Amino acid sequence: MKIIAVANQKGGVGKTTSVVNLASCLAEAGKQVLLVDLDPQGNATSGCGINKRQIKASLYGAMVGSQLLADALTKTRFANLWILPSTMDLAGAEIELVEMEHREQCLKRVLDQPELAQFDYVLIDCPPSLGLLTLNALACAHSVLIPIQCEFYALEGLSQLTNTIRQVRRLYNPTLDVEGILITMYDGRLNLTTQVLAEVKKYFAGKVFKTVIPRNVRISEAPSHGEPINYYDKHAKGTVAYRDLAKELLENHRIRAL
Ligand code: ADP
Ligand code: MG
Repeated sequence: MKIIAVANQKGGVGKTTSVVNLASCLAEAGKQVLLVDLDPQGNATSGCGINKRQIKASLYGAMVGSQLLADALTKTRFANLWILPSTMDLAGAEIELVEMEHREQCLKRVLDQPELAQFDYVLIDCPPSLGLLTLNALACAHSVLIPIQCEFYALEGLSQLTNTIRQVRRLYNPTLDVEGILITMYDGRLNLTTQVLAEVKKYFAGKVFKTVIPRNVRISEAPSHGEPINYYDKHAKGTVAYRDLAKELLENHRIRAL
């Protein structure tokens, strides 16, 4: 099992979009995939077509031990894709978790349970902050995938994120790796975006995914239909891109496994 946290404390950079679509494309490639919705907004949950009113138990319940993991673990209607859904009660978690012993390990305790051993990949959708929830994700992940929106302020705030990663390595998770930097919402027609891409590549030498996610209206439409992009539009530019990303990630994994 490989756990990948998708994190960037900036909102609107394509975290949730990338988690849902990458998870679905990995599942399409035959992997057993678990999506962990760690954002109280629950956008990944609804993006997978889960009706929040029908959730029996949530990730939060499992994290604080008030609900059973087995009740929270939900099969989506997409092949090989499961989710630990989020509800608004996760919003209180930042405050309530503070009271718990080893408060940064609550998610790890959930993911360590034997019921989840069947999964090849666990992808965690982090909230747009570096608070306790994101810390829980980084503390249990094997690697972190960082989406960056291709815009003028792209690199702003990233030193904060890299400092947090260093701190997590020092305190809780010494082998936390950077899976890769993912450029999202790329528009090759704009000079600015090509400049930003060059700058990101300089800053994160060798860590930027070859696959770049283009700005694509089908990607932004898919969540309102409760479908990942590869189901919503099999041939969209965005589908091709997320399939390529899944392939690149699987190859990454192979290289490192050698
Ligand atoms: P985050 O989870 O980082 O806050 P989201 O994944 O919710 O970001 O994306 C923010 C907004 O941008 C959403 O409305 C989403 O539909 C849109 N979006 C994300 N990626 C793309 C893309 N490649 N092309 C077009 N729209 C996108
Ligand atoms: Mg999000």
